[in-house]
Amino acid sequence: MNKETQIQEPSFRESVELMFSRAVRLMDLPPGLEQKIRVCNATYTVRFGVRLRGQIQTFTGYRAVHSEHMEPVKGGIRYASNVHQDEVEALAALMTFKCALVETPFGGSKGGLCIDPREWDEHELEQITRRFAYELAKRDLIHPSQNVPAPDMGTGEREMAWIADQYARMNTTDINSRACVTGKPINAGGIQGRTEATGRGVEYALQEFFRYPEDVAKAGLEGSLDGKRVIVQGLGNVGYHAAKFLSEEDGCIITAVIERDGALINEKGLPIENVHAWIAQHGGVQGCPDGTYEPDGSKLLEAECDILIPAALEGVINLSNADRIQAPLIIEAANGPITAGADDILRRKGTVIIPDLYANAGGVTVSYFEWVKNLSHIRFGRMEKRQEEAQHMLLVSELERLSRDKELGWELSPDFKAKFMRGAGELELVRSGLDDTMRTAYQAMREVWHSRDDVDDLRIAGFLVSIDRVAASYRAKGL
Ligand code: NAD
Repeated sequence: MNKETQIQEPSFRESVELMFSRAVRLMDLPPGLEQKIRVCNATYTVRFGVRLRGQIQTFTGYRAVHSEHMEPVKGGIRYASNVHQDEVEALAALMTFKCALVETPFGGSKGGLCIDPREWDEHELEQITRRFAYELAKRDLIHPSQNVPAPDMGTGEREMAWIADQYARMNTTDINSRACVTGKPINAGGIQGRTEATGRGVEYALQEFFRYPEDVAKAGLEGSLDGKRVIVQGLGNVGYHAAKFLSEEDGCIITAVIERDGALINEKGLPIENVHAWIAQHGGVQGCPDGTYEPDGSKLLEAECDILIPAALEGVINLSNADRIQAPLIIEAANGPITAGADDILRRKGTVIIPDLYANAGGVTVSYFEWVKNLSHIRFGRMEKRQEEAQHMLLVSELERLSRDKELGWELSPDFKAKFMRGAGELELVRSGLDDTMRTAYQAMREVWHSRDDVDDLRIAGFLVSIDRVAASYRAKGL
């Protein structure tokens, strides 16, 4: 990035604010309410020491609460060495609008710890995470009814299990303590389908987009997802699951994967499981025999493809490369991968952007299901699964009896019978709830996109839907 573009480029938080401003200009909100929704309510900064490797190491962490129009507030905890206040506030704001768009009953929050998790071993990370959790929990910044974190970049179910356990140790009589954090492993109160949820949500979002030929045409594309050429940046939790499902279930061809150390290219399609396993073993894509290695990974953001999926960091599509981006359709699996300036350039070029506040909302949606599961203390499907199977069995037996008695010669295929008779377990119910959520939210956005002449993109449509809902909550509270 040259110096001139650096000067022009707003920060991530400013980018989110600029996008918010573009939306509220089209609304009729009283100025006080607009400001109330815009600002981040509070950010807590904590510096704590942990004795490691023979000395006290000091860590800095944040928890930002953007909006408490609904409580608890919700948002992930990120582990990265460059985490800072501006970033967590931008991410917390996005959480507010994301939760409103997919109708999860939460306000927006986000946390971060300045740490490179690769520099510490598991036991050390556990000590650091428990101490961070202690600092947040004692101020109710981790709490089942006030503030419920989840995984984000650099964290996963292991960290969430430590946080849940730390909270439980501090609140021994709280029967709902497991609901203090989501994204936990199943044996610590998690839910089936949470780990895959954000990537799965990206898949469902694209499936829904491709159900509307006129929307697909706006991106200059046609047909279904089958055969679409896709480039993914970041093969972590979100990028890996999105790439896996799109290639294995929807017929997409993943032509390039961009990672920290460069990109791997294969026009015939990369086998995502292999590439993922290679990265896990070698720490990057270099040397992976399934494709050609390109050391300058960011060049691949500009390569020709049908769908570009940035699933790593914010600000990767910015003023320095926006005009060279060739993908006609970008789905923001990461938070804030496109800066406000780049967004302007891409919109002028006619690029269709499926925005982060919708595209990666699968995570918080399934987190919501997990939170409900923890509060109800029963797994989804436990009561009805076998009853449903018995009902289906009844119908199948009756059809078979009719066929026999009336000599109709009908025979239900064993495959149909097996599928039809299987009652829905937790995973099926979670996927069904997520699919429904992604469809409904997309429909709300596209309704605004298509019905208003002054709205020419899905991002502003999404902001309009969610700001309207947040405003309604504040009004209901008498503000
Ligand atoms: P992750 O840590 O699991 O994966 C991030 C991946 O990006 C890693 O594979 C990492 O090596 C790669 N990466 C890092 N720097 C890179 C660079 N400069 N170039 C290319 N690749 C790079 O994180 P995640 O949970 O998958 O989160 C990714 C994005 O999705 C973040 O923006 C996060 O806020 C967002 N998100 C995550 C969730 C979730 O449930 N995990 C939910 C919503 C949004």
